[in-house]
Amino acid sequence: MPDVLISEVGPRDGLQSIDRTMPTAHKQAWIQSLADSGLTEIEVCSFVPPKLLPQMADAAEVVAFSRSIPGLSVTALVPNLKGAQSAFAAGVHKVTIPFSASEAHSLANVRKSHDQMRQEVAAIMALRNDQFSHVIVETSLSTAFGCSIAGPVSEDLVVQLSEQLVALGVDEIGLADTTGYANPAQVSRLFKRVLTQVGERCMSAHMHNTRGLGLANVLAAYEVGIRVFDSSMGGIGGCPFAPGASGNVVTEDLVFMFEAMGIRTGVDLERLMLARDVFSKGLPDEPTYGMVPAAGLPKGFHSAQGTKGIA
Ligand code: ZN
Repeated sequence: MPDVLISEVGPRDGLQSIDRTMPTAHKQAWIQSLADSGLTEIEVCSFVPPKLLPQMADAAEVVAFSRSIPGLSVTALVPNLKGAQSAFAAGVHKVTIPFSASEAHSLANVRKSHDQMRQEVAAIMALRNDQFSHVIVETSLSTAFGCSIAGPVSEDLVVQLSEQLVALGVDEIGLADTTGYANPAQVSRLFKRVLTQVGERCMSAHMHNTRGLGLANVLAAYEVGIRVFDSSMGGIGGCPFAPGASGNVVTEDLVFMFEAMGIRTGVDLERLMLARDVFSKGLPDEPTYGMVPAAGLPKGFHSAQGTKGIA
């Protein structure tokens, strides 16, 4: 059993931030290659109107394919009840609802106040409980560490929202540094506070590398007990307008850090490198990032299992 769960978000967070659309067959091949590297949870798409995000128009088809991969937990992002209905009907194992801790960001992003978002979450929970009880519902508190519209976000507010979401019955809570504002001291402090209030339902960290602190923030969350980490192969996603290492935490670098520390991820780094080629075939000339892919593995490197390959 791995010690941490790496939840790959490239096919969703990554692809939706790139203007070009990866053809469905290439998405499927890429998701397959990611799963082949040992990744057991992949956010494969978001269920949003194709008018807004044409890159995700094939969401149901991508879910159907992903479900055919044995042992893979297939997750999707859903911003509202309508998206959740489609995702449930498509057969996802888990949905993630983004809930902006910054109300200004919420209004700009999904045109909903906190009150309206709470109603949306309640409606999704009612549908889940009524007809899709096997589906896990996660709420990701985006902009939990700061907002590019409102600036600082109150930690008290993040704690309160976590408590309210748990009261609404969500299974899991994640804290997301959507804007790359977080620092390790803040990550440690805020996760501790939320863990104290809602316990083990606070499960995951979604960090961006916008200011180079992605891995440091992951480690800070790990040290206070978080064991689920979102990341994206090649670091794609997040901020298409700022070229450089500005997307999600790079899965390759994240796996390397944990494995080098003796913390098992279940992911085979060499196979994960192969997934980069599959990505590039689907979106030729699209840049990918990562320090480990650029530098290669250190001479004599062993994964935490002590062997190459998946334990
Ligand atoms: Zn993100």
